[in-house]
Amino acid sequence: MRAAVIVVCGGSGSRMGKPKQFLPLAGSTVAEWSLKCFLDMPDVEVVVLVLGEESFQAHGPRLADGKVKVVRGGSTRMGSVRSGFSAVPSDVDVIAVHDGARPMVTPEIARATMTEALKSGAAVAAVPVKDTLKRVPKGSAVVAETPDRAEFWAAQTPQAYRYEILKEALEKYKDDADATDESQLVERCGRRVSVVESSYENFKITTPEDITMASAIIESRQGGLPQSRTGFGYDIHRLVAGRELWLSGVKLPHAKGLLGHSDGDAVLHAACDAVLGALGLGEIGMDFPPEDPAHKGLASREIVKHTLGKVAEAGGELVHLDCTLVAEEPKMKPHYAAMKSSLAALFQLHESRVSLKAKSHEGLDSIGRGEAIACHAVATVLSR
Ligand code: MG
Repeated sequence: MRAAVIVVCGGSGSRMGKPKQFLPLAGSTVAEWSLKCFLDMPDVEVVVLVLGEESFQAHGPRLADGKVKVVRGGSTRMGSVRSGFSAVPSDVDVIAVHDGARPMVTPEIARATMTEALKSGAAVAAVPVKDTLKRVPKGSAVVAETPDRAEFWAAQTPQAYRYEILKEALEKYKDDADATDESQLVERCGRRVSVVESSYENFKITTPEDITMASAIIESRQGGLPQSRTGFGYDIHRLVAGRELWLSGVKLPHAKGLLGHSDGDAVLHAACDAVLGALGLGEIGMDFPPEDPAHKGLASREIVKHTLGKVAEAGGELVHLDCTLVAEEPKMKPHYAAMKSSLAALFQLHESRVSLKAKSHEGLDSIGRGEAIACHAVATVLSR
């Protein structure tokens, strides 16, 4: 099947303040979620996005890309469908019309509707009505009748047609501006229109609470809300004469430095282990074995870069780091600001999401005797 899709985003959004199709939704916009399903379908050769003038100016150039053609819409839904239709190649088998305010459409619903249209001429995605229906005449507040709801379906989109059938309906009723969908014009032509059972999740964004529900559905399709994970890291290095002292990516003025295969930066090592720990990804020694001569003299910022790469690969997002140095010398307080800002920059965090502090070891043991410096770190990582 060779298919084209017209996505109609002509609304001015009077009920939502601005065009509802461009309200933010799950990291994108309603319109882009509505398009996405069709971009992923190999049968769909072209997607014509029909935008109102304001949206055309604001979003048109950004959205026109590859499969997506962007055109200006008319003042009514039918006007917009006609604009979209004129941009579709005349040799496609099937045209689907989709509402840009239905971001939860799936390729399964779209494919089932298009396949039925190819077979029988015209098909509409729809769901059986769940509520009891009351017929209340215009201007009245009194129920006139309760029709049998078993006979009623709520029409959604996509609505799909063989090319010549939609063409016939749009030409025959070219002055009709009031139709709320094209399938009623196709019905008036005496054509059969099938319903294809869709999902209640494929609802139309109309009021602000619909955005909340749509976000929840999209997030659950993506595997739910991210979970917060905590990792812990620890490192200790000997403090010896004749080495530079690197802590938190900063070179501190001191007569001694930390002994290590790399620059011995215990803060960065503990922090990296904490980050890896949050995702269950082991520890830095696995990727930078101390016995490997290739890593001799390594700047620990390289270990940080590598660690952040592993976090990104695992789909995680580092959101907080808390490090506690344990050292008898030198005095750390004068260097807090520089070390904290370096830690934030290296781990690509805002400074408000980084904590760095130091404790003395009260003269006890090797750290207390000034023979070593240690660091403890806790990292918080979001991950699905
Ligand atoms: Mg180390």
